[in-house]
Amino acid sequence: MLDLAIIGGGPAGLTAGLYATRGGLKNVTMFEMGMPGGQITGSSEIENYPGQEKVVSGMDLMQTWPEQAMRFGLKHEMQQVLKVRKAGDNFEVELADGSKQEARAVLLATGSVPKKGGFKGEKEFFGRGISTCATCDGFFYKNKEVAVIGGGDSALEEAVYLSKICSKVYLVHRRDTYRAAPSTIEHMRACENIEEVTNVTVEEVIGDNMGVTGLIVKSKENDELRQLDVPGVFVFVGRDVLSDALKQDDGSYLCEVNEQTEVVVDLKMRTNVPGLYAAGDVRIEAAKQVVCAAADGATAAVDIIEYLG
Ligand code: NAP
Repeated sequence: MLDLAIIGGGPAGLTAGLYATRGGLKNVTMFEMGMPGGQITGSSEIENYPGQEKVVSGMDLMQTWPEQAMRFGLKHEMQQVLKVRKAGDNFEVELADGSKQEARAVLLATGSVPKKGGFKGEKEFFGRGISTCATCDGFFYKNKEVAVIGGGDSALEEAVYLSKICSKVYLVHRRDTYRAAPSTIEHMRACENIEEVTNVTVEEVIGDNMGVTGLIVKSKENDELRQLDVPGVFVFVGRDVLSDALKQDDGSYLCEVNEQTEVVVDLKMRTNVPGLYAAGDVRIEAAKQVVCAAADGATAAVDIIEYLG
């Protein structure tokens, strides 16, 4: 029987594991199907993690976290968790290999995945010219022109990153004001090879059997169509939370979730089911920052130790 099952190995899960084991819990397993580090490892530049004075990639930022977290006995199982169910006072965690583990408490720290834009050609060309990771795929477009879709921090930061690799970046946004932080907008505007294409809707990504050849956008002012001849399109239009593991066989969720299936928690990261916690981007009102996810993990672990007595 596990004391605590942590689902997800990003900043929230790793920090919870560190605090839980250092705080005395003996049997704590973190289930993470990939390498620990989380979604932030796909970010090209982090400049707002406190104490990290230099701009670093997400991969570099997270490099030392797993070793530190495991120093006090946290175990990592490279497994996908399919389902969490109630089992008396405890929980049953069902894994993708068909096995099950029981845990006295569960922390969901599964984060989120990139949202789809929902435009024509997106499904067809995903992975063949359409990407959601500039650090992974940017290099394929060295000295070529690309388009970035979105107006949040992710889109603008990754547009800046791509502008250093690519000959030109079209930043395509559906409004003429951005959600991104003012300093990020300033960085973006300082890049001479970024052209802002604003107040447009994405009509279609076009291509052939080799991959993407262009992006067609429509002006919201005069309905005029414009074709951007780019072999690469990067989509950063927000994220969907990963709370499916809480979905029960009858379609209901194990604990309260909101309309976006974000997990409802209180200030101690407790759900409305005793022993079940959520931390990081998967919870309601998440600021979606590494430092906040880490803090959530610590907050949850401190309460879990008290809960387990
Ligand atoms: P976001 O802030 O939700 O921005 C998504 C952007 O995509 C918005 O500009 C939105 O337009 C646009 N959009 C949404 N659906 C669209 C569609 N179907 N077609 C075209 N455009 C669409 O998402 P994010 O940039 O991924 O950021 C997520 C969270 O992480 C935010 O809280 C952000 O602050 C945070 N974050 C922080 C940092 C940092 O601190 N360094 C870095 C990255 C992300 P509208 O504006 O018109 O809605």
